[in-house]
Amino acid sequence: MKETELKKIRKALEKSLDPKRYEHTLGVEYTAAALAMRYDAPIFSAQLAGLLHDCAKCMSDEKKLSLCQKHNIAMNETEKRNPYLLHAKVGSFLATEKYRVDDEDVLNAILSHTTGRPQMSLLEKIIFVADYIEPGRKQAPNLREIRRLAFIDLDKALVKILEDTLYYLTENGGETDPMTQTTYDYYCAKNGEGNGK
Ligand code: FE
Ligand code: FE
Repeated sequence: MKETELKKIRKALEKSLDPKRYEHTLGVEYTAAALAMRYDAPIFSAQLAGLLHDCAKCMSDEKKLSLCQKHNIAMNETEKRNPYLLHAKVGSFLATEKYRVDDEDVLNAILSHTTGRPQMSLLEKIIFVADYIEPGRKQAPNLREIRRLAFIDLDKALVKILEDTLYYLTENGGETDPMTQTTYDYYCAKNGEGNGK
């Protein structure tokens, strides 16, 4: 039954995402499943969240903005300036409305997959990390080390990803959602590591 549900979602996503994004989505699905096996999280939830995490990624900025306005989804200033950041919030909305997901943990994993947040659940961490390390990803710095780390210490992998995201975005003059820094600071303090910038 669960397998049929996943199959249906894959079919729908193949239509609504571009081919590159669809491949990435499948990569996140099975990487999340592998991490769920390693850390003893529900495999089906990991697959479901992995599949749906970018379900709103190929929607136009106008459409994302209008959906948020129409359904009273709160937007911060950074999101208004960079509507691509909204794909997580809109994705979680679509997961509920279109894909009929009611598992709060799955919805939160979709919601927090780009910036993380303090006190993430195990599933949220798995999706965040899987998104970064799935086999189709080629360009991120330190990818080899992070991939290895992900299966040894999930929290350490999480901190390293946040650190690199902040560094990379600052280097290229891109704008970071303030939540990325908040998440980084939280997990550095919690794990007693990092430079706490
Ligand atoms: Fe995403
Ligand atoms: Fe993604």
